[in-house]
Amino acid sequence: MAEMDYSLEGKKVYVAGSTGMVGSAILRKLAQEGCEAFGSTRQDVDLTRQAEVEAWFDKTRPDAVFLAAARVGGIMANRTRPATFLYENLMIEANIIEAAHQSGVEKLLFLGSSCIYPKAAKQPYTEDQLMQGPLEPTNEGYAIAKIAGIRMCEYYREQYGVNFISAMPTNLYGTGDNYDLETGHVLPALVRRIHEAKLAGEDSITIWGTGSPMREFMHADDCADALVFLMKRYKGAEHVNVGTEHEVSIYDLARMIAKLTGFEGEIRRDTSKPDGSPRKLMDSSRLHGLGWSSTISLKEGLARTVEEFRALHAAGDL
Ligand code: GDP
Repeated sequence: MAEMDYSLEGKKVYVAGSTGMVGSAILRKLAQEGCEAFGSTRQDVDLTRQAEVEAWFDKTRPDAVFLAAARVGGIMANRTRPATFLYENLMIEANIIEAAHQSGVEKLLFLGSSCIYPKAAKQPYTEDQLMQGPLEPTNEGYAIAKIAGIRMCEYYREQYGVNFISAMPTNLYGTGDNYDLETGHVLPALVRRIHEAKLAGEDSITIWGTGSPMREFMHADDCADALVFLMKRYKGAEHVNVGTEHEVSIYDLARMIAKLTGFEGEIRRDTSKPDGSPRKLMDSSRLHGLGWSSTISLKEGLARTVEEFRALHAAGDL
């Protein structure tokens, strides 16, 4: 295992984006690390406003920062509001990275996203393919902002000698996910649709596309575990991919969810809907080589997710 670079014990650790799925998972994980971890809400600080961010850092004086705050959304939101995605993400990153530097933060971890690799990148995506070709046009604004954040961490290291690092998580799911069918990703959408089909006694559900695209899914708690590991043990300039290295077809994912929800009907395919990319797998060998391994299998993570969704649905809390 990579040697310890930064001990979190007794440190003040700020999680920017703590109300989101990944940020809240990081906060839960930090509860076991003997540090004083805290987040912020929009009432505490608007992260797109530089003066507010500076005042927040002056007031809270964190030793370490997880930068998990971002404007995120599905393909439709990205396509229709590219200016918002570019502007807000650039502002959040620039404000936090600069304030962290100004206030003497000892270590910062910035989160990128697997969708920022070039459209034609070779599978599985290795870290060195960043910026090696044109981006996927539908989320280019978001991707450019995230690439800028990664470069900022690299440049701040070079110019100021600070210990700022970046990680690139794969597709995540878990507690606090977005179950909206229009804007959400496939996993929460299928959990919702299949559970509701079971409750309604329907005899089939229809997935979009052929069902053959392959995707990698990681539970947000597993990702948070990897991010805390990197905060403690990684100090390199290049970003690190964070994934499980396991992939599943959309059809098999639907079958697993059907089994967990008790849905016994047919799973149909609507091939008039787009498949998107046939495969999206990240090469996470660098992370695994540092000594981290995934502990939440898709089967276990899905079982937890279906249970949580059942409770939310029954309580009318969606
Ligand atoms: P992607 O990973 O960026 O392509 O985004 P998604 O998570 O939205 O979709 C992944 C794959 O799941 C695509 O091939 C979709 O066509 C397929 N899919 C099947 N059923 C659904 C559904 O109900 N919702 C979504 N979002 N995708 C679905």
